[in-house]
Amino acid sequence: MPGENLSFPGRNYLFAPGPTDLPQQVQNAMICPQEDHRAPDFPELVKPLLKDVKKIFKTTKGTCFLFPATGTAGWEIALANTMSPGDKILTTRFGQFSHLWYDLSCRIGLDVDLIETEWGEGVPISKFKSALAADKKHAIKAVVVCHNETATGVTSNIAALGKVLKQLKHPALLMVDAVSSLASIDFRMDEWGVDVAVSGSQKGFMLPAGMAILGFSPRALAARKTAKCARCFLDIQDHINANKDGYFPYTPSVPMLRGLRTAIDLLLGEGLDNVYARHHRLAEGVRLAVKAWGLKPCAKSPKWNSDTVTAIVVPPSVNAAEVIHIAYHRYNISLGAGLSKVAGKVFRIGHLGDNNEARMMAVLGTVEMAMRDAGMRIKPGSGVAAAGEYYRKTAKEIKKFGSAKPPREARTATKKQKAKSKSKR
Ligand SMILES: *Cc1c(COP(=O)(O)O)cnc(C)c1O
Repeated sequence: MPGENLSFPGRNYLFAPGPTDLPQQVQNAMICPQEDHRAPDFPELVKPLLKDVKKIFKTTKGTCFLFPATGTAGWEIALANTMSPGDKILTTRFGQFSHLWYDLSCRIGLDVDLIETEWGEGVPISKFKSALAADKKHAIKAVVVCHNETATGVTSNIAALGKVLKQLKHPALLMVDAVSSLASIDFRMDEWGVDVAVSGSQKGFMLPAGMAILGFSPRALAARKTAKCARCFLDIQDHINANKDGYFPYTPSVPMLRGLRTAIDLLLGEGLDNVYARHHRLAEGVRLAVKAWGLKPCAKSPKWNSDTVTAIVVPPSVNAAEVIHIAYHRYNISLGAGLSKVAGKVFRIGHLGDNNEARMMAVLGTVEMAMRDAGMRIKPGSGVAAAGEYYRKTAKEIKKFGSAKPPREARTATKKQKAKSKSKR
């Protein structure tokens, strides 16, 4: 098995922007005997799950679907259930994932208007506004965008795009790839006017790959009645029929459902706002490290900065793939590779999912070593120092066992030490 070496201590830590390492609780929840998905009490697992996953999408009006598939199928589920062959959609491409959804749209027979955007930038809202305003006959049936472009570490302003559609009273459905943003970065399906939100299990949901998780607005749901794109396995109608009684139209992966139950409990237990704040804070530390190394992120403006992944541009004399190779083979961590246009030019640090300061300090320290091994002139400890000082300044006590206070002896020692260091000054 790749990555497995029984004589190697520790494990291969994942710092790719998906799949992400599983929280222990999720892993434990998934170790379960085979279960009967037609059992009379199976709906006791499924019904609350379908209800609670809506909280992650921030939708009360929408309907959520869980498909035994991946995010890629999610793109197809979104379009095939709402569109007919030859329907016009409007999209933009600024990274490998927005490219792949564009490519899929063409391949299932849609008529795609593509706005090319530079890699490192986000959804060009004003260009979308012009294109939609010019579309007086409402030929555009859907606006299709990637919220967080994982290839470049760029987050776009979906709220602003939703506003544009509302202002123009354009009836196009707003479809958003939220695979690497949902459950990590602020996402508000109802408030932003998102009609279909696509996600997957192996990013912010902290599960293995193998589940496409979607939210459909009432408008998107209604569109299935006229949508003529061919669909069978990916037909939401079969899910609607079975889900209403707490079942699935075919055999679901029950361990995945058990894991999702725990992941949702963890996310809601922490509180979504706290989850977003944690991701932002950890990401800020990474960005400060990148700056301290004298490097630049692929994101061309701070307004595009992603809180789930940072793509780091290496100097032209260096192959970013070498940094990744060294990090994997010498130090046993996985980083994200540069994809397609930015292959060899960037490597990516994923900072989404089950992360804290300690994990960030580990990856930053390890990346420093790998970059130096690859011949980059990086001052040892520079990134670690920048991130560490930021994390120290912004740290909060974690309440464990009901009390965050250090034991009495420790407090006295701290006071004494303080007095000592004061008298020295
Ligand atoms: C990971 C990812 C996907 C889906 O990929 P799968 O491998 O099919 O799960 C889609 N979009 C974005 C933005 C992603 O990061």
